[in-house]
Amino acid sequence: MATALKFTRPESQAASFVSRTHKMLINGKWTDAASGKTFPTYNPATGEVLSNIAEGDREDIDRAVRAARAAFETGPWSRMTASERGRLVWKLADLLEEHLEEFAELESLDNGKPLTVARAADVPLAVELFRYMAGWSTKLEGNTIPLSVPYTPGAKYLAYTLREPVGVVGQIIPWNFPLLMAAWKLGPALATGNTIVLKPAEQTPLSALRLGELIQEAGIPDGVVNIVPGYGETAGAALSAHPDVDKVAFTGSTEVGKLILQAAAGNLKKVSLELGGKSPNVVFADVDLDAAIAGAASAIFFNHGQCCCAGSRLYVEEQIFDRVVEGVSERAKKINVGPGLDPATDMGPLVSADQLNRVCGYLEAGFSEGAKATAGGERFGDKGYFVKPTVLVNTNEKMKVVQEEIFGPVVTAIPFRDADMLVGQANDSAYGLAAGIWTRDIKKAHRLASQLRAGTVWINCYNIFDAALPFGGYKQSGWGREMGHEVLEQYTEVKAVCAAL
Ligand code: NAP
Ligand code: MG
Repeated sequence: MATALKFTRPESQAASFVSRTHKMLINGKWTDAASGKTFPTYNPATGEVLSNIAEGDREDIDRAVRAARAAFETGPWSRMTASERGRLVWKLADLLEEHLEEFAELESLDNGKPLTVARAADVPLAVELFRYMAGWSTKLEGNTIPLSVPYTPGAKYLAYTLREPVGVVGQIIPWNFPLLMAAWKLGPALATGNTIVLKPAEQTPLSALRLGELIQEAGIPDGVVNIVPGYGETAGAALSAHPDVDKVAFTGSTEVGKLILQAAAGNLKKVSLELGGKSPNVVFADVDLDAAIAGAASAIFFNHGQCCCAGSRLYVEEQIFDRVVEGVSERAKKINVGPGLDPATDMGPLVSADQLNRVCGYLEAGFSEGAKATAGGERFGDKGYFVKPTVLVNTNEKMKVVQEEIFGPVVTAIPFRDADMLVGQANDSAYGLAAGIWTRDIKKAHRLASQLRAGTVWINCYNIFDAALPFGGYKQSGWGREMGHEVLEQYTEVKAVCAAL
């Protein structure tokens, strides 16, 4: 139940939504779990329970998949024109925009992120994503293809391709950008005519459930989007193994990504994976120093470092190494850590006690291997899950803190001397999600951009996202791309039709 929470507006709609007990959305009905069980979601700033949520499991997933199958095969969704479908997705964007403040509060409460960030980034990016994808629904075209079949000389054919939805899609999302990750998944799946079973992260189910209400209000037919909150090992595993699911789209850890892949093998469902990262952020000596320092700090500290693309390995050309480390450390010390709803907060708590322990465990491992903190290096306060923004030096490629994804506000800084050797260092990772380059030399920047094995390279900027810009990973950072027109490949099948004339 809602505890003594401080809201920014007395009439807060988020407060009334949070204080309810939450059900799951199956076939247009809000229903309890078949088991009758519920699970709590916490406020990470206090560790107190925010609300209780119906706990989905295998039976609920099965019901949701049946609803999604029926909606795909026979419901009004399957008979709609592309334009009608696009209009519903656009309507959803409008509704979300109308409720921007409420969603920003929900994200801040459930995930811990500053309200100011959710208001400026998470919610507007989700709105824009739905609008961008709505436009694609009427532009899913095939091709006409000239044939020259050697064994039917003189015969004529009309050959063309159709782009069709994959079918019933299972979507499993993480807690770091709960609403935005739901939008990245739902937007393209809806625009291309699929039906969906979505499982939000156990730590942050609230915004997806509220979005479910808006999906109904927008007029998206029953059964098209089903939302089953619950745990990964139960509801998530049942969804990824379900024999009547045609595709599973997952964002989360590389470790769980591999489990999803194994579970999907049973019926060879299509799989797209958005996984972890350990992204290099490279600063050359010719740089605009102030811009690079600000950029390097925000690359790691944005969203408390709980970003799969966080610039967590900072490589600085040796002649400016000390100045950059000092500058980033000064910024780290000035970051105001506090509850997300406090307008003075720059950085909120980590999402959960588990995540706090995990990040503190990495700090201990780093110190025991000889790393030193020039800022932070420890938990902040004794209530909630706060960690001080941390800069580690005396680190090298062999250390756990440099190799593994910490998923917290911790950057390792390493000097480099030679641009060619740097390429090897930067690419020395099992991951390949993103990278940053800071230099005034455009030739150097574009050459390095082509050498880095990463799905996104930012030059003199970082964490720039747009619905039109594809995002995804090389190597163990994933399969497939989200956003841009590339994502449409993930949600459509191509049918070749060949007619003898
Ligand atoms: P996670 O365990 O991979 O969880 C992501 C989602 O998968 C959640 O909905 C989770 O459910 C579900 N899940 C867990 N086990 C599953 C299983 N066996 N079968 C099907 N679904 C399953 O990630 P996390 O623990 O939340 O975060 C830890 C790490 O994930 C981070 O350090 C980072 O590497 C990675 N991560 C990456 C991103 C990204 O954007 N690429 C985002 C967040 C996290 P539960 O909610 O019940 O766990
Ligand atoms: Mg929570």
